[in-house]
Amino acid sequence: MRGEYRYLWARQVTWSFVRPHPAGPRHGDVQPPAGAPRRPDDSILDLDPTLWPRHARRNADGAIEVAGHDVRVLAEQFGTPLLVMDADDTRSRMREYATEFASDEMPATVYYAAKAFLSTTFAQWVAEAGLGIDVCTLGELECALAVDFPVERILFHGNNKSTMELRRALQAQVGLIVVDSFEEIARVGFLCDELDTSARVLVRVTVGVEAHTHEFIATAHEDQKFGFSLASGDALEAVTRVHAMPRVEFAGLHSHIGSQIFVASGFEVAAHRVVQFADQLRSELDVRVEILNLGGGLGIKYTPDDEPLEPAEMAGRIRRIVATECGRQGLPVPHLAFEPGRAIVGPSGITVYSVGTVKPVELDGGSYRTYVSVDGGMSDNIRTALYGAEYTTTLASRVSQSELILTRVVGKHCESGDIVVSDAWLPADVVGTDLLAVAATGAYNRSMASNYNLVPRPAVVAVTESEQTVLLRREELADVFACDPGFAEPPH
Ligand SMILES: *Cc1c(COP(=O)(O)O)cnc(C)c1O
Repeated sequence: MRGEYRYLWARQVTWSFVRPHPAGPRHGDVQPPAGAPRRPDDSILDLDPTLWPRHARRNADGAIEVAGHDVRVLAEQFGTPLLVMDADDTRSRMREYATEFASDEMPATVYYAAKAFLSTTFAQWVAEAGLGIDVCTLGELECALAVDFPVERILFHGNNKSTMELRRALQAQVGLIVVDSFEEIARVGFLCDELDTSARVLVRVTVGVEAHTHEFIATAHEDQKFGFSLASGDALEAVTRVHAMPRVEFAGLHSHIGSQIFVASGFEVAAHRVVQFADQLRSELDVRVEILNLGGGLGIKYTPDDEPLEPAEMAGRIRRIVATECGRQGLPVPHLAFEPGRAIVGPSGITVYSVGTVKPVELDGGSYRTYVSVDGGMSDNIRTALYGAEYTTTLASRVSQSELILTRVVGKHCESGDIVVSDAWLPADVVGTDLLAVAATGAYNRSMASNYNLVPRPAVVAVTESEQTVLLRREELADVFACDPGFAEPPH
């Protein structure tokens, strides 16, 4: 069997393989990164289980199956682009985060960050896994309330919650509201009076740490819209005001330092500053920080180069950091809270696209870059265009004997930045009848999807060995036109 995949080993032997080849569509002048040559995705043979959903594999035809469901059949059934979620994988990650981030000596609450992906069924899974949920709009809140999500485990975020949103949250008696501005503190107080109710709040602080992947930047002040600055004294003022309000209970502090974080060191600086602040609150206001919420941002693997820590490892490191900082200040360790979104839903989702046109484009110097167009793009995955996110893709409907060439997978939208995968190794014979799968698209793909160019947004289908569950059905053109009164009878 392996003999059929000679091309795979050929490309591992020599980098010259990627130079323009006179016989075929040549790839562009994409330079390998310094050091080891950038290697094509090994998952062409066996799907790397740390990069693809845990129950994804290739079947005898070489097509990808998720929990036994052939993507060719799913594509036929639900149309493409299609988000396929490995439900058992997602749900086991939910349980893992719920258990690994809490321990007997350091109890914690883990809130799933709903913005990564949400539907009613999904919210139910979150509740069943024992997680809390972090919502930041009326829509996300209503979705949780629609499935009777235990309200004490709902945490309400946002830098600009409207009066209506706050009123709904207070009426529903959500467990925690994270306050983000002086105006909002006043508004929560006013609404508690109006509704004759009370609120428990966390004060969101900015600690001057911005963490991203392997780097973090520590500064005093942050130039961003979220939270109260520790350095400017705003955070102290915020806690002072909350503390003075009879119907509003100060429960603790919140700090979120970034996203796609692979190292615990960013949390170290954040924890150091927040715990110092907690000590200041104790000595100056005699106020106790009962809850310390360190936010989300735990990184996942999008490409073979990404090396996130296992949840247990990351949790252990963060716990030790907090324990050390509290020990240093002589403070009791607060109840911890975390808000992972991406790490829970990202790795278990893949996007299946149909290939359309394949176009070799001549570049300066006479080399070519092969543009492989798919039937979606920035409307279902904005992350590449928005922040140059990297993804892994592979031929999903068959295996190929052709050599691998470096291609660029692009969408169908009217933007040259409409790129899905910037540098993708695909067989040179990729054609319009093929399906491509992109790994790790479970988080921030469907939730950030748009109807740009009036395209319907894709379905999200969760599969287990015995079941297919439509989490979100595919939009029809009628859905896209639903808000346009000019369509008396929307087309189907
Ligand atoms: C976005 C966000 C999260 C979740 O981030 P992930 O990178 O998906 O883990 C958690 N908390 C806050 C406040 C956020 O803004």
